[in-house]
Amino acid sequence: MGDDNVKAEALEIIGMFQVLPRLVVFDLDYTLWPFYCECRSKREMPSLYPHARGILYALKEKGIDLAIASRSPTADIAKTFIDKLSIKSMFVAQEIFSSWTHKTDHFQRIHTRTGVPFNSMLFFDDENRNIQAVSNMGVTSILVGNGVTVGALRQGLTKYSENVNTSEKNKQKWRTKFSKNSSSSEQNEKN
Ligand SMILES: [Mg+2]
Repeated sequence: MGDDNVKAEALEIIGMFQVLPRLVVFDLDYTLWPFYCECRSKREMPSLYPHARGILYALKEKGIDLAIASRSPTADIAKTFIDKLSIKSMFVAQEIFSSWTHKTDHFQRIHTRTGVPFNSMLFFDDENRNIQAVSNMGVTSILVGNGVTVGALRQGLTKYSENVNTSEKNKQKWRTKFSKNSSSSEQNEKN
């Protein structure tokens, strides 16, 4: 499937959802590209996973911002590859640094830079510990097995909508409970 076909399919998937994330964040190694960039030389020409470029273009076309969160110890190689792949201008934030936290500090920085709340973000990564830590911050997070694919995109957008619906329902529950309590206390005051 070529980039244009992937993009068309991704656009169709995105079009099926009424609520969309404001920002989609990607890991690099084994999420956008099939290697650890610390094992490669800057002189090489890298390639992305087959669906990655089409997905990035589709999200961008729908007005969704994109960012990178990578714990790669070789940010210089990662940035050279992003440049060589001509995708640099697509990202509003690129946080690439090694860290002992499982990307929670990457997401704090992305939030500070973009102003987007964690519950309006969707994240793709191939490491479960990152997924666990970042989803605890309120970010909808999807574990990818073999790079980002249109299937993972569909799964991510589905889970994102479910999370938004759940938090809306919870808010509604609290509002109902609160208004009941306040009306009963008004009643008590009258009595
Ligand atoms: Mg990775």
